[in-house]
Amino acid sequence: MNEGIRELLKQIPSMEILLSQPWVTAYEEKVGRPAVKGVFSDIIGEIRKSLLEGSTPTIDIDRICIEAKTRLSRHSSRSLKPVVNATGVVIHTNLGRSCLCASAVEAVMECSSAYSTLEYDLSTGERGHRNSHVEWLLCQVTGADAAVVVNNNAGAVILSLAALGSGREAIVSRGELVEIGGSFRIPDIMSISGTRLVEVGTTNRTHLEDYARAVTEDTSLILKVHPSNFRVVGFRSEAAREDLAALAREKDLVFMEDLGSGFLLDAEAFGLRGESSVRDCVLAGVDLVTFSGDKMLGGPQAGVIAGRSQIVERLRKHPLMRALRPDKMTLAALEATLRKVLEGNSREIPTLAMISAQPEGLLQKARQVSRQLKKKFPDFSFSTTTVQDAVGGGSYPEIPLPGFAVAISHPVFSSGHLQKRLRESEFPVIASAREGVVLLHVRTLRDGDVARIGSALRGISSGTGVASDGAS
Ligand SMILES: *Cc1c(COP(=O)(O)O)cnc(C)c1O
Repeated sequence: MNEGIRELLKQIPSMEILLSQPWVTAYEEKVGRPAVKGVFSDIIGEIRKSLLEGSTPTIDIDRICIEAKTRLSRHSSRSLKPVVNATGVVIHTNLGRSCLCASAVEAVMECSSAYSTLEYDLSTGERGHRNSHVEWLLCQVTGADAAVVVNNNAGAVILSLAALGSGREAIVSRGELVEIGGSFRIPDIMSISGTRLVEVGTTNRTHLEDYARAVTEDTSLILKVHPSNFRVVGFRSEAAREDLAALAREKDLVFMEDLGSGFLLDAEAFGLRGESSVRDCVLAGVDLVTFSGDKMLGGPQAGVIAGRSQIVERLRKHPLMRALRPDKMTLAALEATLRKVLEGNSREIPTLAMISAQPEGLLQKARQVSRQLKKKFPDFSFSTTTVQDAVGGGSYPEIPLPGFAVAISHPVFSSGHLQKRLRESEFPVIASAREGVVLLHVRTLRDGDVARIGSALRGISSGTGVASDGAS
């Protein structure tokens, strides 16, 4: 090591000096002394490393302290927190997909802050089954004979394939070998579950005969997968569910469908033409349907498997079931959400209410929000505009959801800057932008969000925390 580097290394302040800075105490109270120490030693380590690699960073206690404060303040404030979704994307996977309905939130609070009947049968005083709280409800709303719930739909597909097709073959159309985002790829899922993938047909056309010809002694199932946000339009065709069901019956195979979103109601009534509900699949003869709890069901993250009882029974006994079982908060929320569907009050489920919101109502809301904000923030301009909203969650990409937004602009700040400031406010507001204006899509706004947007704008116009970056 050369003399120069040795000298510079000596200039790095000692841990003792760093820890004795007066501001440190506040962070120690929040995250503990070892964590504060850890942050300092990371920073020192980084300086040392860059010195040894030949660069010459300025070694300055103030700069080390600023960096440490930035990191500590990030670690000591709440990380997973609510935001205002002003994107108009209803099932926004990055923003947590579905918001729970009020009764689901209440059920989660009650069952998680107290002991519960999670696996306890009150009539016998003996051990019960966690699935029992939702199975009957799921059968009512899907028309299936039996159902089990796991952690998420990816888990539902893995469990089903592992229990029914491990070491054997499953036939899938090439048009359905999709990646669904968040790294859910059908071929990978099949290999994890030990099922051999047999591809049939082409990307745009797969016929019943393609499936029939692929059946061998090793075939255990026919798998149909909802292509989610992928669409082939034009010259395309797929085998009808009824025909695949008949083929499966004739060859003694299981016919399984990964439906993804899993709509439980009459899709047409929600303006979702051409989509099959879970019940449609069951009626068409699908033996096992899997779908997510937090997409079109509007409940908690979960994977539902509904189907023929003999087949569901095989899943219940599989060792993976234990690894994928849902927790009590999920089950409490799912039960409450399913009760809303069964009662016919599905519009109390936020996801369904947002998806079925009509343009006239949205326009009215946009005008009202715009008026309210205009009064309070004269330095910004507000107007209403039409926008394209989306179901999201990889669901129903081609279904147009015409929406309305409040367009915000500022004489000094760019839309990118405004978006950033909204995002970084105390209660973060996630908005979209177009041609220099920020757009607040009103479809996905919740009660109280206008006041939250107001505080965020107040922060921007009063300049709190902007000083350094000004207009950009
Ligand atoms: C969303 C989706 C999945 C993954 O579901 P998760 O609940 O996110 O695990 C799997 N298959 C299809 C067709 C989907 O749309």
